[in-house]
Formats: sequence, C-alpha cells, structure tokens
Amino acid sequence: MTSWTGFSKKTPQERLEKLLTEKVLSQERVQELRTGATLPVTTANQMAENVLGTFALPYAVVPDFYVNGKDYLVPFVTEEPSVVLAASFAAKIIKHSGGFTTLIHERLMIGQVALYGLADQVAAQELIKKAETELIELANQAYPSIVKRGGGARAVTTAIKEDFLIVYLSVDTQEAMGANMLNTMLEAISGRLEDLTGGECLMAILSNYATESLVTAKCQIPFRYLSRDRSEAGTIAKKMALASDLAQADPYRASTHNKGIFNGIDAVVLATGNDWRAIEAGAHAYAARDGQYRGLSTWAIDKEQNLLKGQLTLPMPIATKGGSIGLNPTVAASFDLLQEPTAKELASIIVAVGLAQNFAALKALVSTGIQAGHMKLQAKSLALLAGAKEEEVAPLVKHLTEAKIFNLENAQEILKKIRQDKK
Ligand code: NDP
Repeated sequence: MTSWTGFSKKTPQERLEKLLTEKVLSQERVQELRTGATLPVTTANQMAENVLGTFALPYAVVPDFYVNGKDYLVPFVTEEPSVVLAASFAAKIIKHSGGFTTLIHERLMIGQVALYGLADQVAAQELIKKAETELIELANQAYPSIVKRGGGARAVTTAIKEDFLIVYLSVDTQEAMGANMLNTMLEAISGRLEDLTGGECLMAILSNYATESLVTAKCQIPFRYLSRDRSEAGTIAKKMALASDLAQADPYRASTHNKGIFNGIDAVVLATGNDWRAIEAGAHAYAARDGQYRGLSTWAIDKEQNLLKGQLTLPMPIATKGGSIGLNPTVAASFDLLQEPTAKELASIIVAVGLAQNFAALKALVSTGIQAGHMKLQAKSLALLAGAKEEEVAPLVKHLTEAKIFNLENAQEILKKIRQDKK
C-alpha cells in the first residue's frame, strides 16, 4: 500500500513526481499541472459570456481518505488556508479508526411543473395520478438517450401549495446531475398537464432540493485518537458531542457548523467540475427541513465502547458526466486522482469529506481553539501579501507568530528588519 507520509513536506514538483511514480497521474497530466496549463481561454469563452480569461485557485490533494474499504486521493480546490491541512489530519485519524461507511438512499433528481388558476386542485391531482404512465412516457420520449443509458423518468407526484398545484417528476439521471435533462422533460409534459387540468403552467424546472439523492456518511473514532492523555480524550469527545447539540439548537452556530462542512465539500465539488451552487442550495434547504436551520452532521459518544460516532446526511446530486465536466483539463486530473469514480462513489467520497472537515473543526474548537492553527496560516498569507520571497516566508511567519500582532503593517515592518539584518 502506498504511504503518503511526508507528502505535505514536499514541494509541488516533488508531489507531482510522487503521483507519477505511483502511476496515479500520467506524464501528460503531470505536465499540464506543472505548467499550469488549465482551461484554455477559447474553451472558457464557450462556457460563459463576456470572457476575459480564466481565474486560478490553489489545486491540492488530500491522501488517506478511506471510504467503504477503498483508499482515495481527494482533489481540493480552495483559497482558504488550513482546509486541506484539517482534512488531511481528520482523514488520517478516521482511516486508523476504520474509515467511513456511506449509504446512498436513492439517486433520483426531482423537477417541478407549477400549475395555477385551477378550478379544482384535488380533482386535478386525481387526473394526474391516473395519467402517470402516460406522463412518464412523454417525459422519456423527450430525452430518449437517458433511457438508453438505463435511466429515465420514474414517478409523478403532486402537492397542493397554496394557489399552486405542483407536479413533481422524479428522474434517474444516471451519471449526470440532470438539470438540462429534467428541464427538457418537464417542458415536454407541461402542455399535457395544462390540457389535463385546465390550469396554466407558471414554470417547469428542476428543483435543487434533491431529497431523493440523499447520502449518509458515518465514522466512529476511538477516544484514544483524540488525545494521548486518556482523560483529556474523553473530555474532547464529550465536548464534540455537545458542540453537535449546539449546532442543532442554535441557527447562528448551525450556519458556521455547516460552513465548515462545506469547506471540504465545495473544494471537491469545484475540483470535479460540478455545480457547487446547486449542491449548496440543496443542502441548506435540507438543513432547514423541519422549519429550523440546523447542523447537517451529528456526533454522539458511546461511553461503553469509548467511541465518538459521527454522521452526516445531505442531498448530493453530483455528476461525473455532463455540464462543463469534460471541458476542463484539471477536472480530468481530479477524476484520475479519484480513479474514475461513478457518480454514486463520488457522492460517497464528498459526503465523507464533509464529515471529516467537520470532525477537524469541532475537535479544534473544543480543544486548542480554532485560532491557534488559523493564525499561523494567516501569518503565512500576511507574509506573502507583504511581499516576502519564498525563503523569507518562514522567518517572517515565525516573527509574526511570536509578536502576536497579525496585520499587514507589522508584517511589512518585520520583513524590512529581516532584509536589513541580512545586509
Ligand atoms: P448536460 O446537459 O450536460 O447532460 C448530461 C450529458 O452527459 C448529456 O449530454 C449526456 O449525453 C452525457 N452523458 C454521457 N454519459 C452519461 C451517463 N452515463 N449518464 C448520464 N449522462 C451521460 O448536463 P445536466 O443535464 O446534468 O445538467 C447539468 C448542468 O446544468 C450544469 O452545468 C448546471 O450548472 C446546469 N444547470 C443547473 C440548474 C440548476 O441547478 N437549477 C438549472 C439549469 C442548468 P446524452 O445526451 O447522449 O445522454
């Protein structure tokens, strides 16, 4: 089994060499990453409007994610210091604890046709129910390629929401997220729905509240991995469970709790070329499903077995095909790192990443505090902003951390002194 110990201490070039030696990435991919040959402007210009160029962000990898008995190298795109470090730390501890297990509850996308102006909403519901098979056929005829791939429309349901009768279409979109598939199918059935019910269609569109694409990730961590000191380990576990309760009780905390989860999730969603707004929108709606916005993950302790048990459930309608996925060479590198997962496998990895990120954040919050690690990384950003050269960063970070004054003016002042002392 490949060991990734010391990977974080290497230079970017050395990390690429290691991935090449381990046959994770091809020579061609390594060359693309080494030269920063990412998205060609000509391609970018086809993807969005009024394009001027492309916009770069750090592209990193986190080894040792052990999910459902398989090891993964997970690509992260993030501008935030400490996210990759925290994920690596959590992934290692959780791997030693047996890794993550995940459950895909279902993988269907939901779209809706909103009808209004109906004389009798309940009677209209009955008519739609009777026409379900016909409506499914109509939807499938509008997008035959997904049927050929083994997917297609699966069910039609309805709900009365004030003056609207909403018709929901559930579709198996296979490896795609399915926005365009759903929208095509919905528009194809909206005319027939108007004929059936006498109502008018206000809109026909996919819903990002993907409650039929729920994924759960779980892990359980022996207390002993939380601290070398036995009694401190038990206290940390208890406090992490309390922190989880807090995120259920207080929306102000829940929002930050979930932001921490998305530090990891967004990083992988971006790296795999997926629509992160869609994933965020669905997850935040799910976090408020009972009327109060709550933490998406929960942690509890098993006192008898000295285990901390974590769990995260959220909608994860992630894709491995479609959208802009095939257009970006760095996205191709991400799929190489992940060993070409299926959409279900990728969804499992991403939810596991969210749980790992949450573990690291909660552990830091209830023990050392989040600032200890953060300030060191903040100092690094300040050093770069102050204009420190590569060899000047480490001494400047050291001085800033000792001085405990983390602002740009101080960083510039210290840098000046370092340079004067060198003369
Ligand atoms: P696409 O429109 O790109 O459709 C999926 C494509 O993937 C199809 O061309 C399909 O080919 C191809 N494909 C290849 N292999 C497979 C496979 N095994 N399973 C499924 N499809 C396969 O993407 P989506 O419909 O998924 O829509 C996603 C895009 O829509 C994203 O870019 C998103 O940002 C955007 N969007 C999002 C909205 C929202 O979230 N509310 C609204 C509107 C757009 P074939 O046709 O031959 O089957």
